[in-house]
Amino acid sequence: MDKIQVKTHSQSEFINITPEVNKIVHKLGFKEGVCYVYVPHTTAAVTINENADPSVQKDILNELDKIVPWDDHYTHMEGNAAAHIKSTIVGSSVYIPISDGKLALGTWQGIFFCEFDGPRHREVFIQTIKSE
Ligand code: ZN
Repeated sequence: MDKIQVKTHSQSEFINITPEVNKIVHKLGFKEGVCYVYVPHTTAAVTINENADPSVQKDILNELDKIVPWDDHYTHMEGNAAAHIKSTIVGSSVYIPISDGKLALGTWQGIFFCEFDGPRHREVFIQTIKSE
C-alpha cells in the first residue's frame, strides 16, 4: 500500500490529489487494474469531480454547508459534528480503473481530498490491484 501526505489549509477545502495518485500508478507500471483511494479519517472524505473549473468545488462545499450547517444543536461534544456528517455524505473511498497504464479518468475529472475539519495533516491510502 502507498500513502499520500496531505496538508490542508482551511476548515473546508478540496485538494486535488490526482497528480500524486497518478505518480503511484505510473511507478507500479502495470497496464490493467484498479486503483483504490481510501481516506482513513472521520472528518474528511474523497471524491471525483470536475478538475477544470474550480468554482465547481466551491459550489459543492457551499451547498454541503447549507445541508449540514456547522452549528445545529448536535449532540457530539467535540464540536465538529458537521464535519463527521459531511464525511459520511461524501464517502471515504473511490475506485478508479487503470487502463493502458493510466488512471481511466474522464477528461474533466480529478480526484479530490475533501477536508471538513481543517487545517490538519492528513493521509490518503492507495491500494492498487493488478488485473492483467
Ligand atoms: Zn468529532
